[in-house]
Amino acid sequence: MNDSLSLPNGDWPELLPGWVWLCGAGPGDPGLLTLHAINALRQADVVIYDALVQEAILEWAPQAKHIYAGKRGGKPSAIQRDISLRLVDLAREGKRVLRLKGGDPFVFGRGGEEAQTLVQHNVPIRIIPGISAGIGGLAYAGIPVTHRDVNQSVTFVTGHDQSGETPSSLNWPAIAQGSQVLVIYMGMKHAEQITSELIKAGRGVEEPCAVVCSATTGDQKVLETTLGRMAADIAASGYEPPAILCVGRSVLMRQVLDWQGMMGGQAPRNLDPLGRGRPAEAS
Ligand code: SAH
Repeated sequence: MNDSLSLPNGDWPELLPGWVWLCGAGPGDPGLLTLHAINALRQADVVIYDALVQEAILEWAPQAKHIYAGKRGGKPSAIQRDISLRLVDLAREGKRVLRLKGGDPFVFGRGGEEAQTLVQHNVPIRIIPGISAGIGGLAYAGIPVTHRDVNQSVTFVTGHDQSGETPSSLNWPAIAQGSQVLVIYMGMKHAEQITSELIKAGRGVEEPCAVVCSATTGDQKVLETTLGRMAADIAASGYEPPAILCVGRSVLMRQVLDWQGMMGGQAPRNLDPLGRGRPAEAS
């Protein structure tokens, strides 16, 4: 156990019996948990966790019962309802319930739906945000989601809808044209359709892209590619989800900011990948 790490003195909230805390676990690396998450893990009677929550994180709650609530394929909406009602039942039994979700609970994680069901059943809740894979996962690949020379906005998109298909309701031309950098969750399986929609809508085939798999974990893999080649490169790589797809020139920054590669002794490939010619001046 991690007895050596104690929370700093302060007024840490108490997880009371009958409450449910919905908490983000971050993208994988346990070091990316928040202090509120640790505080919750230490008090919970029950931790209900998703497929994307790393086992190592559960070790922070040795006193709690661990219940796996992962969903793979199947009928996500029906199962989702079961999970929400299970949370209600556990709370009504007087348990201190921690609902632990990968990344941030309110980013493509159905945390909003679970929280709504709890409130509808008069179960008191607390929300603990987490580091989302689309931000923290890219940072671990050396890709800043915003960069002054690249983008003034970033769009987070899901590549799946409830049925598991590419969301046909999405306005791909608007997404393609709306911001210079697109961060796509759950897009790996539909990469071919997504990239062709983006190209049809005017994004360049040569545009830099990255696919970051199992970001922040020991299995992290990064594929650097272009919009035109992404789907074929994914197929050839054999890489598996979970993955974040990033489309846009900020991917080039990895050539100078691949800090994990540098920790492994690699030299930066290019100190000036955006071609500014000199370090940016402080302003
Ligand atoms: N709430 C989560 C997202 C849940 S949706 C968050 O804020 O990060 C699940 C999708 O998140 C996955 O299909 C994948 O696209 C992305 N994802 C989550 N963890 C990831 C990781 N460690 N590496 C790459 N992608 C990840």
